[in-house]
Amino acid sequence: MTEYPHLLAPLDLGFTTLRNRVLMGSMHTGLEERGDWNRVAEFYAARARGGVGLMVTGGMAPNREGGVFPGAAGLFSDQDIANHRGVTDRVHDAGGRIAMQILHAGRYAYGPDCVAPSAVKSPISPFVPNALDEAGIEKQIGDIVTAAVRARAAGYDGVEVMGSEGYFLNQFLVTHTNRRTDRWGGSYENRMRLPIEVVRRVRAAVGDDFILIYRLSMIDLVPDGSTWEEVVRLAREIEKAGATILNTGIGWHEARVPTIATSVPRRAFAWVTRKLMGEVGVPVIASNRINSPEVAEGVLAEGCADMVSMARPFLADPDFVRKAAEGRADEIAPCIACNQACLDHTFSGKISTCLVNPRACYETELVIAPAGVAKTVAVVGAGPAGLSAALTAAERGHRVTLFDKAGALGGQLNMAKKVPGKEEFRGLVDWFATMVARAGIDLRLGCEAGVKDLKDFDEVIVATGVVPRDPGIPGQDAPNVISYVDLLAGGARAGRRVAVVGAGGIGFDVAEYLVTGASPAEDLAAWKAEWGVSDPERDRGGLASGGPHTEPALREVTLLQRKAEKPGKRLGKTTGWIHRAALKMKGVKMLSGVNYERITPEGLEISFGEARENPALIAADTIVLCAGQLPQRGLADGLAAEGIAAHVIGGAEKAAELDAKRAIEQGTRLAAKL
Ligand code: NAP
Ligand code: SF4
Repeated sequence: MTEYPHLLAPLDLGFTTLRNRVLMGSMHTGLEERGDWNRVAEFYAARARGGVGLMVTGGMAPNREGGVFPGAAGLFSDQDIANHRGVTDRVHDAGGRIAMQILHAGRYAYGPDCVAPSAVKSPISPFVPNALDEAGIEKQIGDIVTAAVRARAAGYDGVEVMGSEGYFLNQFLVTHTNRRTDRWGGSYENRMRLPIEVVRRVRAAVGDDFILIYRLSMIDLVPDGSTWEEVVRLAREIEKAGATILNTGIGWHEARVPTIATSVPRRAFAWVTRKLMGEVGVPVIASNRINSPEVAEGVLAEGCADMVSMARPFLADPDFVRKAAEGRADEIAPCIACNQACLDHTFSGKISTCLVNPRACYETELVIAPAGVAKTVAVVGAGPAGLSAALTAAERGHRVTLFDKAGALGGQLNMAKKVPGKEEFRGLVDWFATMVARAGIDLRLGCEAGVKDLKDFDEVIVATGVVPRDPGIPGQDAPNVISYVDLLAGGARAGRRVAVVGAGGIGFDVAEYLVTGASPAEDLAAWKAEWGVSDPERDRGGLASGGPHTEPALREVTLLQRKAEKPGKRLGKTTGWIHRAALKMKGVKMLSGVNYERITPEGLEISFGEARENPALIAADTIVLCAGQLPQRGLADGLAAEGIAAHVIGGAEKAAELDAKRAIEQGTRLAAKL
């Protein structure tokens, strides 16, 4: 008897049956644009082997003007169809099913040729779109239909028509982006004409035995968004027009409400999808922040949806479904919703991968094969770099001993997990602990390995991490000064007024820790209030008419940096704005371009600019130092002095711009070659 009876139940679509209720949601990997089709095929085949019920590809452009960026992939030629055929064949051979997403970006397309219902620029694009005329609209419909027909020719089991997230079809639905006065604008009947027409014509062109998913925006989270009545009306019409499944879209890309970041509570929007249950006859899929079989099972068991969509969790672990089905859910590598290696990469033009699983999208290149010769391997430091190296080495058949002077594994991850909104790090540390135990690694916690403990190993990996940088501020040895380590790991307490020295990732985390009481990430009602999310049945688009309401800050915090740039500028590309907005809502003051003059019992004395002008006192009871880090190289230097060869990785090698993504990747890649 499985623990996940709802999740693993087949789904009968009439003409075909899916093996379970798990959809791998659409993700842009960046692989198609690079033309390495073997790599694309292996990415999807690995997930098919892992047991997922149905996958949706990254968005494929129906034409050049609708591509998310210039050169976005699509099925434009016979060669494209042949390339995609290679992917679908491999997926089918692996027992999987795959649908191709057709994504017309409309005014979100990054280029001067972008088209939309009206010439209304989006706040997240520099381009004013070209308003389509009647012939232009007809062309877009025709191109979307052609893309669907080609998808069928390429062997796909279906298509997903992207109608949410503020993309092209969504732009027709709301008056904010659709100012037309012809039959495609004005009344809601006119505004929903295009999505319905697209689905009707796609269905007519592909035949009845082809999956047609329509992704429908159920809560727009933008001003003047759809009402719930409009959402239900559209859903019914889309069903009538021939959709097989309705998938949930949450929030337009320009929404100022986080929808998938790690600080968003798990299954935060399942209640929205649940409202549609019973309103339509076709299966409905819930989406967003569903990242474990328990959460997914709960969503289904409570009747919030017929199927669940998880996207990033399949980057973190392609075998998610198989492990759940085999009673090994604790071995599923958890997606911590950080966006650091997936969406942040996409928006930087890099191939997507995963912080937790650097093999994602690198399946053909980063291969973990059994070692030719089993060696004894010592790994010193059980932070993310050391843990990844140890696990990969053990997986390959080496005999691994893992040392850490701390009493628990996880290194800096143990500090991250204390920060409100970063609770997902707890699951990551637990997963590492489970995997270390299962891999038979000899774990020596509370053990500071010295040079002589290491000399008999075949390979030595030094992953001793970092030490906080000493900013050398006069007066910093006083009792009112603590470091972030004292605060997050040592149990030190901060007073009511706090100055935080350093506005990097850790400075922001510390500020969040200092101002937040109970974490809204663990309390859906509080989180919705904080970001002003309401029921779309009450407030159009689901934006609370009273605006956001945040709990008062626990402390008065000032966050400082020496650079003259905007604090938080270098935080994650897709998540930095959330951290900045969250601290702003809590009244955290941010100062740039400062010099730290001295610390006194009254607080932190600063001045501004090269001329050290405008001296000021930041009155504070506590000053927390978050001034970056330096490599912890003591052991590495000791080994070198004794002539013992060692691999130095993670923060011990280079502290600048260290994060768990780099640490895990470096540990994995090193051990893959030992
Ligand atoms: P960081 O991001 O490099 O920031 C260090 C801060 O210290 C900067 O604000 C820097 O700004 C300041 N600083 C540097 N030298 C200083 C000195 N001598 N005196 C005073 N201030 C000094 O490092 P971190 O905050 O320690 O974070 C470590 C790593 O973890 C980073 O790579 C970070 O990206 C990562 N991390 C990421 C996140 C995330 O949200 N993605 C969260 C936590 C940590 P000025 O030089 O302008 O003063
Ligand atoms: Fe999830 Fe982060 Fe991996 Fe993206 S990089 S899939 S958000 S764990």
